[in-house]
Amino acid sequence: MKYVTLNNGVQMPVLGLGVYQISDKKVCEKTVEEALSIGYRLIDTAFAYMNEEAVGNAIKKSGIKREELFITTKLWIQDAGYENTKKAYDGALKRLGLDYVDLYLIHQPYGDYYGSYRAMQELYKEGRIKAIGVSNFYADRLVDLILHNEIVPAVNQIESHVFYQREKEQNLMKEYGVQMQSWASFAEGRNGMFKNEILLNIGRKYGKTPAQVILRQFIQKDIVCIPKSTHKERLQENFDVFDFELSNEDMKQISLMDTGHGLFESHYDVETVKWLGGTRFDF
Ligand code: NAP
Repeated sequence: MKYVTLNNGVQMPVLGLGVYQISDKKVCEKTVEEALSIGYRLIDTAFAYMNEEAVGNAIKKSGIKREELFITTKLWIQDAGYENTKKAYDGALKRLGLDYVDLYLIHQPYGDYYGSYRAMQELYKEGRIKAIGVSNFYADRLVDLILHNEIVPAVNQIESHVFYQREKEQNLMKEYGVQMQSWASFAEGRNGMFKNEILLNIGRKYGKTPAQVILRQFIQKDIVCIPKSTHKERLQENFDVFDFELSNEDMKQISLMDTGHGLFESHYDVETVKWLGGTRFDF
């Protein structure tokens, strides 16, 4: 496994498993167990995925030492604000069965996220979280948060795939010491991602699949990925990306696939603000 070093010195695996849309608790638990047995050490969950407990069960069953794991969870909008965030963090730990998480992210840039971030900075300083960060923050909100807070977010997790590479934003993050993490590295299969001719042709040269080419190009760009799969053979396929290196020419060809546009909701869209802001999860 290759690691990136976050701005506070914490080591983060460059590849992990995301468990969004694995709402069935048994399936989630089994998937995380399989991933851990293959060698995955980074698991990305969230309050909003409603599967923190299943992730926690799989971790417990694995018997893997806590310090070898890198567990991320995220704060949902309904828990935004200083007091709520502290309560929400305790709840997350309880569901996960852990006494700290490696990375706690503000899931969406909505609601009183400045209050949330103040609480997270305190929890971090108390040593109760290893690193804090954000998700879905576009450049303007990210820089504003950085300029008006003491601790620079360690990570910004954003939509990113070969059709939407966000190089300019990655460069800005680098300038401030924020690690870019890709969500939907496969664009959830949209745009015929897994049958794309360019990716198939590149993959043939190395005996690799489009999925492996996609993950490898992220790794070579030092972008952390958390592809989701509930199939053991795909978990293995997505993990087998450390035994080859894409040439500069192939990296260049992939960079030309960028359309500059996302394939999911825009966080600037008022409808997105209304939809996500009104979404509550109750256990
Ligand atoms: P994704 O990883 O881009 O794509 C997942 C899809 O690809 C699933 O349908 C999966 O199917 C399929 N797949 C996986 N590996 C494959 C392979 N080797 N060959 C063919 N198909 C394959 O989508 P995502 O789950 O949306 O994103 C990944 C993670 O990012 C999430 O799980 C979550 O942790 C995080 N995320 C964060 C946010 C945010 O707002 N912060 C938003 C979205 C996602 P099977 O499962 O059937 O194999």
